[in-house]
Amino acid sequence: MSKRPANSRRRFLKTTAAASVGAATLGSAPRVVGASQAPIHRKAEGPVVISSRNGRNAVEKVMEVLNTGADALDAVVAGVNLVEEDPNDTSVGYGGLPNADGVVQLDAAVIHGPTGRAGSVACIEGIKYPSKVAKLVLERTDHVNLVGKGAQAFARMHGFPVENLLTERARERWVRWRENLSNSDDYLPPHEAHDASIGADYVEQQRTWGTIHCSAIDLSGNISSVTTTSGLAFKIPGRVGDSPIIGAGLYCDNEVGAAGSTGRGEANLENCASFLIVERMRIGDSPEQACLYACERIADHTRKAYLLNDKGEPDFNVQFYALNAAGEVGGAQIRGKNGKFAAANSEGSFLVDLAYLYSND
Ligand code: ASP
Repeated sequence: MSKRPANSRRRFLKTTAAASVGAATLGSAPRVVGASQAPIHRKAEGPVVISSRNGRNAVEKVMEVLNTGADALDAVVAGVNLVEEDPNDTSVGYGGLPNADGVVQLDAAVIHGPTGRAGSVACIEGIKYPSKVAKLVLERTDHVNLVGKGAQAFARMHGFPVENLLTERARERWVRWRENLSNSDDYLPPHEAHDASIGADYVEQQRTWGTIHCSAIDLSGNISSVTTTSGLAFKIPGRVGDSPIIGAGLYCDNEVGAAGSTGRGEANLENCASFLIVERMRIGDSPEQACLYACERIADHTRKAYLLNDKGEPDFNVQFYALNAAGEVGGAQIRGKNGKFAAANSEGSFLVDLAYLYSND
């Protein structure tokens, strides 16, 4: 099962067999449930932050900002900005993999726990920091969602430059995907005369997912969340994923906690999973239990045969990250025992195991 927490994490984490057992009783199918670690209560006075694994540096930045007394929303946006501007993270912001037409279209959303306000942008092009624009939608409009050209015009109105977000690395990956798109068109990827297979398997490897979600509690005990992404690589132009949808890619209730997601957005959209996780925490689930509950819900609702493996299990992955108002964090994913999330408190930053439904063994 999961590894024991390292000494440096002992005060932050404890194993919770009870949490996993509780979650394992949900739903009818006999599924494997990973016994992950779940953090104990935060120190009453200290901030706490959680993010997807690619936020290992971001959570440190968020802690730095929170320790100045900043609002949690300012802190989480400052944290994910590091990932949005990183050309080497091909799942978020600048350097994100483009849609099927080779255009980078970004999604992002924020929620501010203490005021209950939300803001989001979807399919925004040419703007490096969609999370900042989502925050401006929250602060400077009476709306929640802006999409496409309207979102870009709004960003320009607030002084954001329109930039080329397609890096050479991302463009080359898109070209290779395009050239492998179909065996019955005229595009061919680079290949040798003896290469028998230059089709579907290769295409599948290129269809990567990725996103950053981050939630935090600030020094005042207030909670806020952000999720930002370039979405599914090579998606149909105009596709909106779960990340900018309140209740799907993220949800936050200042009295209860926050949740967010990465992975197959369509599954999350069909199940409003982040909202579900917060509501499960409201009735007493730990963050990890609530995340496992959402995984179960998705598994139970997945009926399309092409999404199931030969055991009838979902053949895709979704990860959830949750933080409750007491400062406990936890996460779970549908498939695989090696998943991690990033978290930080006053003792440092850590990678923590995600619980899981199916081990992939
Ligand atoms: N959830 C994101 C989306 O569906 C992608 C991801 O997290 O990988 O757009």
